[in-house]
Amino acid sequence: MKRNKSFDGSNILYLIATPIGNLKEFPPRSIEIINNADLVAAEDTRNAFSLLSHFNIKKEIISLREHNEKEASLHVVSLIKQGKKVVYMSDAGYPGISDPGNILVKECIKNDINVSTINGSSAFLSALVASGLPSDKFYFYGFLSAQQNLAKEELKKVSNYEDTLIFYESPHRILKTLNLLLEKLGDREAVIARELTKINEEFIRGNLSELVELDQNTLKGEMVIIIEGNHIKKSLSDGEIIAKVEYFTNKGMTKKDAINAVSDIFEINKNKIKDLFNY
Ligand code: SAM
Repeated sequence: MKRNKSFDGSNILYLIATPIGNLKEFPPRSIEIINNADLVAAEDTRNAFSLLSHFNIKKEIISLREHNEKEASLHVVSLIKQGKKVVYMSDAGYPGISDPGNILVKECIKNDINVSTINGSSAFLSALVASGLPSDKFYFYGFLSAQQNLAKEELKKVSNYEDTLIFYESPHRILKTLNLLLEKLGDREAVIARELTKINEEFIRGNLSELVELDQNTLKGEMVIIIEGNHIKKSLSDGEIIAKVEYFTNKGMTKKDAINAVSDIFEINKNKIKDLFNY
């Protein structure tokens, strides 16, 4: 067991949350802590440089990103042990949330260095609380795998969760991902929270079957997808099962895939559905 007090004057790493779009969301405490630091470790040194320049802060900046996370973390640990005051920031939001930072934190803990967080914005929290979907219990997934087969497996694992689900996605994959979510989770209520804190901030609320019809040209920028948990009635009548399969085949799925999807989503034996279609 270890107990670390953040204000006892020992060596400490500060994790700084950075704005997710709106530079006004950079708290005075973050600026003060960075001003008092000897150096800044950052996911992207150029981004960090422009953020710090905006606040007239001049500091040495070193790189700690996904590709050098382990070595750079060990380097930061050795600097802190030499008495240097170091802060770490990723490109946007909190380090360690779909961003590097976790390895650094673990290495600091291993080396008896205190770790503290200076709060700011995080895309998933802003999206969740404004979504209108239940926000008392939720499951943050982050990015699904870019490989379709792996993403399908990942969704299968969370398809029964009753808590609200949260995903990150990039604009070029958003429609593909929405279609996959519809196929694997069923037609649930969902919200796309787009360009949070920026001038084009938008919340698009609807069912997944409506969201998949959106025009790609209107889905630019950064996005969080929030989806209601599994509240779907599990026991469907034969007529309802047939209607669900037909819904998917009308969307262009083969009968086999549609049967598999309905079987996965509603946990109905595949053979039972096949029998209904004499398939
Ligand atoms: N560390 C960040 C955090 O705490 O939210 C997340 C970084 S992750 C690499 C980037 C993803 O976060 C984007 O692809 C998007 O899904 C989401 N995101 C970041 N900024 C956003 C914004 N302003 N509006 C909506 N989503 C955003």
